[in-house]
Amino acid sequence: MQVLEDITRTRRAVTGAERSGQTVGLVPTMGALHKGHVSLIHAARERCDFVAVTVFVNPLQFSVGEDLENYPHPLETDLKTCEQAGVDLVFTPGVETMYPQGAQTTVHVEGVTRGLCGSKRPGHLDGVATVCSILFNILPADRAFFGEKDYQQLVMIRRMVRDLNQPIEIVACPTIREEDGLAISSRNAYLSPSERVQAASLSRALFAAADRVKNGQREAAALIRATREEIQAGESAEIEYVEIVDPETLEPVPILDRTVRMCLAVRIGRCRLIDNVEIRG
Ligand code: AMP
Repeated sequence: MQVLEDITRTRRAVTGAERSGQTVGLVPTMGALHKGHVSLIHAARERCDFVAVTVFVNPLQFSVGEDLENYPHPLETDLKTCEQAGVDLVFTPGVETMYPQGAQTTVHVEGVTRGLCGSKRPGHLDGVATVCSILFNILPADRAFFGEKDYQQLVMIRRMVRDLNQPIEIVACPTIREEDGLAISSRNAYLSPSERVQAASLSRALFAAADRVKNGQREAAALIRATREEIQAGESAEIEYVEIVDPETLEPVPILDRTVRMCLAVRIGRCRLIDNVEIRG
């Protein structure tokens, strides 16, 4: 497994693999790798001959006051995880490499970034769109693998790739969960034991909403109300949003007459947790 920090050698490794007839899969991450990331690597391993993982904590996607300084950086452990998962190349650039002095360009996707996390974390999704565009240029892969866990991010990247005609296929991978349903996240480590118990209510409430739809409930407002109540039953939960949206446009859907996505963001203690599920109408 190659571990590279510089752009020229990384691009050469990827284009070299392609020139020798291999398909290349890219898994962009911010490190602190867990089972969710590993599932993306496995998906890439299954579908591509050469797998590249990027580990870069992207300052552009953190707002002032968010947890950039405290974001975990266990690079040695991450490299072991990548090695065990059969990764061919890990790209771990420094901030100066990704954003050299004088850089002035950012990427903004309209529409799908307006609601959900886009309205709660200004600049966050622009930071993600920008870093992914840069990574797609440095590592010109055939496919990039993203988790449904960050659903708005996935939809935005798909939109960006279509709009800018970036020559890469975006592959969506299902959310990996703990046994009690909590979506695995690097930030779960910050939950206290009682907050951790409370955090399980997010997925429980989402699955309960899906069950209500199976039993005939079609009104988004009623489903959202019930979901909020289930989560608010815990003391330390502060709901940012619970919404039912079209899976592509991310516009709110009032009546569930088709397949939708139910998305939520909740603060528990000092953690901001997000989750979502598909609900078939
Ligand atoms: P991050 O390191 O948090 O930026 O995440 C890197 C990639 O891993 C993104 O595509 C995430 O959607 C994906 N990811 C994070 N957590 C999970 C999870 N629990 N299941 C599946 N994919 C995940």
